Amino acid sequence: MFKSCVDEKAATELLKALVKIDSVNPTLVPGAKGEEEIAEYVANWLRGLGLKAKVDKIEAKRANAVGTLKGVGGGKSLMLNGHIDTVGYDYMTIDPLKPVVKEGRMYGRGTFDMKGGLVASLAALKAVVDSGTQLKGDVVVAGVCDEEFASIGTERVMEKTRVDAAIIGEPSALQIERCHKGFAWIDVETKGLATHGSMWETGVDAIAKMGNVLTGLEAIGVKLQKKKHPVLGPASVHAGIIKGGLELSTYPDKCLLQIERRTIPGEERKDVEAEVEALLKGIADKDLKFKASYEITFYRGPMDVPETADICQTIVACSKEAIKLTPAFIGGSGWMDTQIMWEKGIPAVAYGPAGEGAHAAVEWVDLDSVVDAAKVQELVIRRFCGEK
Ligand SMILES: [Zn+2]
Repeated sequence: MFKSCVDEKAATELLKALVKIDSVNPTLVPGAKGEEEIAEYVANWLRGLGLKAKVDKIEAKRANAVGTLKGVGGGKSLMLNGHIDTVGYDYMTIDPLKPVVKEGRMYGRGTFDMKGGLVASLAALKAVVDSGTQLKGDVVVAGVCDEEFASIGTERVMEKTRVDAAIIGEPSALQIERCHKGFAWIDVETKGLATHGSMWETGVDAIAKMGNVLTGLEAIGVKLQKKKHPVLGPASVHAGIIKGGLELSTYPDKCLLQIERRTIPGEERKDVEAEVEALLKGIADKDLKFKASYEITFYRGPMDVPETADICQTIVACSKEAIKLTPAFIGGSGWMDTQIMWEKGIPAVAYGPAGEGAHAAVEWVDLDSVVDAAKVQELVIRRFCGEK
């Protein structure tokens, strides 16, 4: 019988301490404080556990905390990763930086997204250390900056670290999030010819030329519905922003359409490019005056760790044993840092507590689920990395 060494009180206190440290992402919210202070705090906490840990400064205000619990060798290595930045809090209707515990929930900015999940991983690590277990493989702990914007934190960690699998402690209500969609942002610009509104012989209406692109986009959307990923469903495409026109009495010289395409596993950047190229070429072949260009302005791929992966099966077995819960495999709605690892061939899943209010006016995490996530990860560390 597995007897957990998770220190529930210490976990709650640690979460309170982390919530009190303002760590709003300064790229997202200009002038915000950034992650340096919280990275220092986490690194110090890891050192207090006896780990080698450092603050990795990436740029002004931006830093990761990275520590390693060295194994004796001969086992697999595991990364526990959690982002230490939060989104802004100006619009919150509760005190963002003064955590309040009420009816089993802790309220405050970042409790749910995702200091609660980071604490679950840290509490798991502490439990392993406290139990005196000697691991074979290494455990790398990374508190990363900038997940809420461009993920410079995880990008940096993965430049330097090679592990056999990773758990990102993002909230998943104790289910295993093993896949999510990717996305591409695409600018399409049609070219017109600006002339006086009466000059129909020479004027080319760039806005009207965009009409066929929009119709084509809808047709692509319908086609995409036919191919479904078993967990994530179909890919999709939609027009996000359209801009064009100079004044009422002038033919518009250009029109810009900004498109978002959500991709499913199996689709790549080049597939998205080919799709847009085929659409524009199809229109141009029928309309000699149609001139358009496109550019992918931002791209993040999808990810898909199979259920059979060692890390997935280890979490399932440990969850059953530690908290008597058989977790479901789920897909995420948004893009996550797990994809950066997956792209490098490292199976990475999101696994963390329950709660509500990511990026919302009221945010809370369920404290029992933080402890449960910690207990499961405590056992996962021991099983995945191996005990001496
Ligand atoms: Zn998050």
